[in-house]
Amino acid sequence: MKFVYSPEYHADIGLHVFPTEKYDRIYKQLQREGLIKDGDVLFPERPSDEQLLRVVSREYLDDLVNYRLTARTYPSEMPVKKDIIDAQLLCCGGSHLAAITALEHGACFHNGGGFHHAFADHAEGFCYLNDVVFTAAMMIEHGIERIAVIDCDLHQGNGTAKFFHDEKRVFTFSMHQEHLYPAKQKSDLDIGLRNGVGDDEYLELLGGALEKIFGGFCPGFVIFLAGADPYVFDQLGSLRLTVDGLSKRDELVIGKAFEGDTPIIAVLAGGYAENVDDTVEIHCNTARVMAKRQKTRS
Ligand SMILES: [Zn+2]
Repeated sequence: MKFVYSPEYHADIGLHVFPTEKYDRIYKQLQREGLIKDGDVLFPERPSDEQLLRVVSREYLDDLVNYRLTARTYPSEMPVKKDIIDAQLLCCGGSHLAAITALEHGACFHNGGGFHHAFADHAEGFCYLNDVVFTAAMMIEHGIERIAVIDCDLHQGNGTAKFFHDEKRVFTFSMHQEHLYPAKQKSDLDIGLRNGVGDDEYLELLGGALEKIFGGFCPGFVIFLAGADPYVFDQLGSLRLTVDGLSKRDELVIGKAFEGDTPIIAVLAGGYAENVDDTVEIHCNTARVMAKRQKTRS
């Protein structure tokens, strides 16, 4: 299975709920299992400023590349530091590289990305740059007409929803805990879940939404945010999905794309389990589902 990753994603952010060590741990675990081999791993490059300016304002990009603490970078809830901002710049290149790879190979796993709270003119919620927005915008340039963003992170993909609000070629779907950060934007389809929703209800609602999206919008490309934070032992949320339930979620989304031969990328997004092992396992499961599907098809 094709796998996009960079050791530079592991930035030192000090004491923080975001476990940046997850990237290396997922990579090593999947290597140990033989799921990814050396030839499968693709390393991203930082996009050019010209490319980035298609999705962020000049003022905001200047703040970012100069690592300046301003009203635009301050709301990130992350330190305004070179390593961290560079990692997210690189992640934009990573999701884009995954997308190009998926066009050729049908699917690609990006061991990073999903920074869906970043806006065109400011940071928010651990996110400086929205790699999902960047990738969808680049796919439009590649001539892909219908792109579906299937955002199953615990939190609403507010930055993505806002950016593509008037863009008919991108369908934004977010399924999230309703009474939680962030202030909501309007996606094309939102499912705001009450606290305490578990596997069965979640999977039923997701299945219905996927029917609507694949039956109505008929995507030519799918960007799947496979957040690990709807998990029952997540520190930031109150949904109650199990590790097994989250893997079934991945099976539903990735399976649906494979059934229709729709190229798909999966990106990690959030995950703040009390035990980082659980976050790593949930993300590895997404990769395992994708690899299994790809093996069955080939
Ligand atoms: Zn999240």
